[in-house]
Amino acid sequence: MHPLWLRSTNLKDFLAPLQAAGLNAFEFLLDPGDSQWSQFAPLMKSSADMGFYLSFHFPYRQAYSLQGFRENTQVVSRNELASLLSLTQDLGKATGHTPVIVVHAAKSKSASRQQLFNDTLAFMQWAVEGFPGLYFAIENLGPAATGELKLGDTREEVFDLVVKTGSPQVGICWDLGHDKLHNRLKTPPISWLEKVIHLHVHDVDSGGVDHYPLVYNNVPYRAWLPIFSSRQLPGSVCLEIKGHQLKGWGINKITQSLVDSVNLVRELVDE
Ligand SMILES: [Zn+2]
Repeated sequence: MHPLWLRSTNLKDFLAPLQAAGLNAFEFLLDPGDSQWSQFAPLMKSSADMGFYLSFHFPYRQAYSLQGFRENTQVVSRNELASLLSLTQDLGKATGHTPVIVVHAAKSKSASRQQLFNDTLAFMQWAVEGFPGLYFAIENLGPAATGELKLGDTREEVFDLVVKTGSPQVGICWDLGHDKLHNRLKTPPISWLEKVIHLHVHDVDSGGVDHYPLVYNNVPYRAWLPIFSSRQLPGSVCLEIKGHQLKGWGINKITQSLVDSVNLVRELVDE
């Protein structure tokens, strides 16, 4: 959820058709560099007051890469990172649900995969120790840009990070669209699926651009979502849509595509 969705409407009107379709959760990106950042905390609070499940996405801009975390040489200070996690932990206490924080493993143009693994692991251990009121979900990532290493762009690395952190607070965020970008269309093994605590669902258009509503049928969500039940993962199936990609669609088509996507997710994820 981003305040820009409400640019020409208000929360109640924006939500009415989506709640009717079964929407009951929001994920918020934590990004103090966002020009609308001051509007996030009030919107998170209003959503919590309305009874929505809340989850959060740890910042993933380059400045927030976990590279260097083990030696405490990452760009953003641990205090600053802790203040973001404290905000989410406090909101979790207010809702009575333990929020999930989605985390991208470290990325870099210079470090080795092993270094990035060690940095990410150090962050995970620091995070679970300092924030017992949160769950953390390590996400499988889309392909890296040329010249960049992205730890966690394979299923195996995500699994290894979760296992090596060894905390019941840590699991996998399975991004179905990212698997499509890698052309990984085989269902993961049971041992991997058992670690999934959060899902990112979006579609990929014919040009290979992701984060669309579920209108293209290019991602196997019809096969993969029924693996899960809403009781098992309450509030943890997230439609991860980037609004700026829908420019030119018109408000009616956008609203309808969101309503249809929420309906489809609700149908596919068993009770
Ligand atoms: Zn995602």
